[in-house]
Amino acid sequence: MKNLIQIIEDDTSVRKLLEITFKEYEFNFVSSENKKNAMIMFLSHNPDLVIVDLGLPDGDGKEFIKHIREISKIPVIVLTARHDEKEIIAALDVGADDYITKPFSVNELLARIRANLRRNINEETLSDKIVCNDLQMDIAARDIFFKGEKLKLTPIEFELLKYFLLHTNKTLTHQQILNAVWGTGYQNEMQYLRTYVNTLRKKIEENSTRPIYIKTESGIGYRFSCSGN
Ligand code: CA
Repeated sequence: MKNLIQIIEDDTSVRKLLEITFKEYEFNFVSSENKKNAMIMFLSHNPDLVIVDLGLPDGDGKEFIKHIREISKIPVIVLTARHDEKEIIAALDVGADDYITKPFSVNELLARIRANLRRNINEETLSDKIVCNDLQMDIAARDIFFKGEKLKLTPIEFELLKYFLLHTNKTLTHQQILNAVWGTGYQNEMQYLRTYVNTLRKKIEENSTRPIYIKTESGIGYRFSCSGN
């Protein structure tokens, strides 16, 4: 069945581009140009994924994300006019999963949409194993395998990789990761995070300077990429 994508974007040319793309790539869509109509549409159509512009004529897209997060866990991708790190982090903090900056390429947009739809399916299937390309985690046994071999990880490396594997294909801010892995009080210890990301990369990336799993989102955080199984 086709996935239904909800678009909230007041810029007509961007909205049209999204609509044409979704028509061509076999997604169903509903669209609106303001927050008020978007909420009505969200409640009546029950979409599989939302794409929302942050600057809307009747307010901030972040408000819309906050509202739907109270009732839904579906993937939300934010559209921003430029690479405004503060705005992107704020949107991720209120519950957005990912972001795209305008102008965007259609291929990048489709890749992000597919990755986010996949993540949602993974979260719905209550399994005791998580598989991400060459990585496999046995949650109950607390073991992580890479190409069939058990990885030797320090406790922090394990917690960090586990957090990534539980949140694949989602843009995670530095603070979200530090909070989840190190706990409160460490949210500003960026150097810890950088150090452990480097040691993890050495264990799971073929080329740690061109990582395929742990992608750096410059100025924002990291995204753990899984191309699907
Ligand atoms: Ca706008």
